[in-house]
Amino acid sequence: MKISIVTPFYNEEDSLEEYFEAVEAVLTEYDYEIVCVEDGSNDNTLIGLIKRQQESSRIRIVELSRNFGKEAALTAGLAECHGDGVIIIDADLQDPPSLIPSMIEKWKGGADVVLAQRRSRDADSFMKRLSAEWFYKIYNKFADQPIPENVGDFRLMDRKVVDIVNSLGESNRFMKGILSWPGFTAEFIEFERPNRIAGETKWNYRKLFQLSADGIFAFSTVPLRLAMIIGLISSATALVYAVYTIIKTILSGIDVPGYASLLVVSLTLSGIILICLGFIGEYLGRIYNEVKGRPIYVVKKLHKPRDNN
Ligand code: UDP
Ligand code: MG
Repeated sequence: MKISIVTPFYNEEDSLEEYFEAVEAVLTEYDYEIVCVEDGSNDNTLIGLIKRQQESSRIRIVELSRNFGKEAALTAGLAECHGDGVIIIDADLQDPPSLIPSMIEKWKGGADVVLAQRRSRDADSFMKRLSAEWFYKIYNKFADQPIPENVGDFRLMDRKVVDIVNSLGESNRFMKGILSWPGFTAEFIEFERPNRIAGETKWNYRKLFQLSADGIFAFSTVPLRLAMIIGLISSATALVYAVYTIIKTILSGIDVPGYASLLVVSLTLSGIILICLGFIGEYLGRIYNEVKGRPIYVVKKLHKPRDNN
């Protein structure tokens, strides 16, 4: 039973040493490989990885041609790994490698997916906690396959799950959704998420918002239906009001005032129409991206370990 560790690296030169120490320390008893995806860093990450590879025959480096983002980097890593059990873990040690042995135990005990779940988000800022909470609420209301709350990409997946994930060809890679799409039996391990050991997070609010929108529009068509529902409600209201106005006119003649109410109705409806057009635009843009069929990432070079293949 071979274990693959898949890790995306983007400007992680300062975490590199500690990462390998920690990961290799917990894996001594297993047959394993470490697949490092170098996501177009502009620091010395690649040099560090290559140096590390010269000391170990278990490290494979997938060097991407530029920065494609974490989601694409993970896609590349999953495509290039060979293990029967695959573990995705961050380079900054915010996903504690000490959980790996118990993940493997649960997998051997029959779980197809073992998810690491954050016990609390105390370390995060108030805004980040609030936005995360709302994201999960909205996403899980809309999407066909809910994603468990406070579970990141840190997880173990059986080969059969990885094969399915690899066969999903969409270029919109919302990994949280893609990874949970296959389903299978999942087990959880709780953990406390530490802070980064070095460097800075690559996510800001703009990117997080973008990611959430990607997730919702990629895994749900509810916003489109929402447009129809709002349309139905406003048409029904309009009909009732029309009947009321006609009867009133017949009974008590024409009443000229109405400027304010007309303005309000007109503004509200145009607002709703524009929002709905925006929803359609979101889907259209995504369809455009999918239709182009561009590759999700480009491998510049595959650095294979020297002494096995
Ligand atoms: N990462 C990547 N490409 C990117 C951004 C991030 O491969 O464009 C990697 C990064 O090196 C790290 C992981 O994704 O291993 C998580 O990134 P980060 O720690 O910035 O995210 P956070 O932990 O704050 O969610
Ligand atoms: Mg991190």
